Amino acid sequence: DVTITDLHKSYGDVEVLKGIDLTVAPGEVVCLIGPSGSGKSTLLRCINVLEKANAGTIEVAGYTATDPDTDLDVMRRHVGMVFQHFNLFPQLTALENCSIAQRRVLGRETGEANRISQDRLDMVGLGELADRYPDQLSGGQQQRVAIARALAMEPALMLFDEPTSALDPETVGDVLRVMRELAQAGMTMIVVTHEMAFASEVADKVVFMDGGVVVEQGPPSEVIRNPQHQRTQTFLSRVL
Ligand code: ATP
Ligand code: MG
Repeated sequence: DVTITDLHKSYGDVEVLKGIDLTVAPGEVVCLIGPSGSGKSTLLRCINVLEKANAGTIEVAGYTATDPDTDLDVMRRHVGMVFQHFNLFPQLTALENCSIAQRRVLGRETGEANRISQDRLDMVGLGELADRYPDQLSGGQQQRVAIARALAMEPALMLFDEPTSALDPETVGDVLRVMRELAQAGMTMIVVTHEMAFASEVADKVVFMDGGVVVEQGPPSEVIRNPQHQRTQTFLSRVL
């Protein structure tokens, strides 16, 4: 679970997060939507401290991300992150890509790591392709390897930053299906996405950000289908 309180983040003089409050309960799926530059990626990156917040507190999976004494390497073991660009190691197979962090970060034996990798690749529908190299996989397949790799670390929370926006349209559906199954299996997830159908169907809570603030949040039935704020309505009229 995640609790964010009055989070501020600036780059130089420019404040890009202006007091964000957000809670994510265990098993909850939160979709973050909003225009380009509204601060969605910055918010995700603050959660696992790829960016350091200037003020406010972030509690993640029992750790205080904003406490300078927190061991971030330990904290990050519990937080899986999937980006737009999946950054697989090109010289490693799908299976090896999934195993390497388990061995290096968690100290798992190769046999056990490979067994868990194979299980997660099966989960994302790639069990048969475990021995392929990234350049022998489609973009959507590579992204599913990246998801399997994150899941192999057994995270308490998964962060997704536009995981389908760099993909060919015909492979987007496979990735969204895996994410939907993960949500149904009870994974706690924060998903930055422009896929409004996915957000409508899968999100427990939709958070609309604009200009570094949360303008509106609630279930998709409210935020997507019956938005109360002009800025939300304008954004949705452009993307729907
Ligand atoms: P998009 O939908 O385009 O991905 P976003 O909502 O994810 O947008 P962010 O990437 O969080 O937006 O950026 C928020 C603001 O912070 C933007 O104005 C951006 O230019 C600025 N910004 C982001 N990263 C940096 C950085 N490293 N240095 C300076 N400014 C940054
Ligand atoms: Mg972004």
